[in-house]
Amino acid sequence: MPRLFLLEDDASLAEGLAWALGKQGFEVSCAATLAQARAWPGGMAGFDILVLDVGLPDGSGFTFCESLRAAGCNTPILFLTAAEEEVNIIRGLDGGGDDYMTKPFQLGELCSRLRALLRRAGGAAAPQTLRSGGLVIDLPGCRVTRSGRTLELTAAEYRLLCLLVRHAGQTLTRRAILDELWDGTGDFVDDNTLSV
Ligand code: CA
Repeated sequence: MPRLFLLEDDASLAEGLAWALGKQGFEVSCAATLAQARAWPGGMAGFDILVLDVGLPDGSGFTFCESLRAAGCNTPILFLTAAEEEVNIIRGLDGGGDDYMTKPFQLGELCSRLRALLRRAGGAAAPQTLRSGGLVIDLPGCRVTRSGRTLELTAAEYRLLCLLVRHAGQTLTRRAILDELWDGTGDFVDDNTLSV
């Protein structure tokens, strides 16, 4: 369930949005002021996407976005703007925003845009394991087991195995394999090592 942070000072809009987005599968947390958002426990790190109103009682959603980006946060941000704020949207996007919608908006379109932003941010979920025959490669753990037994592999052997399993059923040239194994960190795999 994507966790969404909504910064919106219009209480009835915030309430309605939180309810509707909740129905659409988002887990919504709301703040009504910049101060509240800035003091949010744990900051914005726990959210997958941020929806920021621009005109807030104690400042602008643009400022909040800029401070987040300056602090290295790259969570997708969509601005909700009133019509008269739309002229400023270039500032919002240049300041690190990803998209915007002008009020009033259709809920369906908002959800589609949010989902598109989430897709772009996360891409298709990367696989955590590769399998081939009795081999199981646990990618986050860099562990390989065959029929349940852990294999002791060197770093180069591990990378070669991952490459071959990823391209199972395909022919790879020596050049392509060397290019892939040469990681630019000085861990050079030469032609002889590859042969072995
Ligand atoms: Ca507002």
